[in-house]
Amino acid sequence: MINCWVKKINSRANLKKEIEYYFCTMHSTAYILLGSNLGDRMSMLLAAEDLIQSKAGVISAISKVYETAAWGNTNQDAFLNKVIELKTSHSPADLLSLLLETELELGRVRNEKWGPRTIDLDILYYNFEIINSDKLTLPHPEIGNRRFTLVPLCDIASDYIHPIFHKSNADLLVHCNDQSEVKLYSQP
Ligand code: AMP
Repeated sequence: MINCWVKKINSRANLKKEIEYYFCTMHSTAYILLGSNLGDRMSMLLAAEDLIQSKAGVISAISKVYETAAWGNTNQDAFLNKVIELKTSHSPADLLSLLLETELELGRVRNEKWGPRTIDLDILYYNFEIINSDKLTLPHPEIGNRRFTLVPLCDIASDYIHPIFHKSNADLLVHCNDQSEVKLYSQP
């Protein structure tokens, strides 16, 4: 009987160590914008969160959901957007691949620029890294120009400093030229 309790206590201690180790190795923080304007938009956002969590790390913060009229090609349904904070051990390039894979799994079809989409996943920040490669630009170049990005981002990371502009997200939002209405969304 005593042996059984000792075993249980040891396995709990090990579990605690394993969890601590798991989180210590996940030392990078990424902010990801999720958007959907096709199909059951809310379910798409939730399905994307589940897939991201199962493939890429641990979601440590989630913004509220906002609704905004579509940009660019305006002849389409409004978007729902939210931003998540992800603790991850994947590199920026690997994270991008996992997000592109997730988009495909959720039925994303790329046939027109700014066209309707079941899901759109953009990496906004990855730690304070600055990357300009063929496939990946970090921070995302449009952060400062889009209220539909900044409003949810400020829910969970208002003090985070943009590594190029040296301004907080809250400051970027105050000085954003975009006039689009970003409405808090509550499911009908
Ligand atoms: P989109 O049509 O907005 O989904 O654009 C997707 C493409 O943008 C991807 O194939 C990426 O290679 C590229 N891209 C560049 N920078 C980023 C970023 N920060 N987050 C997501 N995609 C990016």
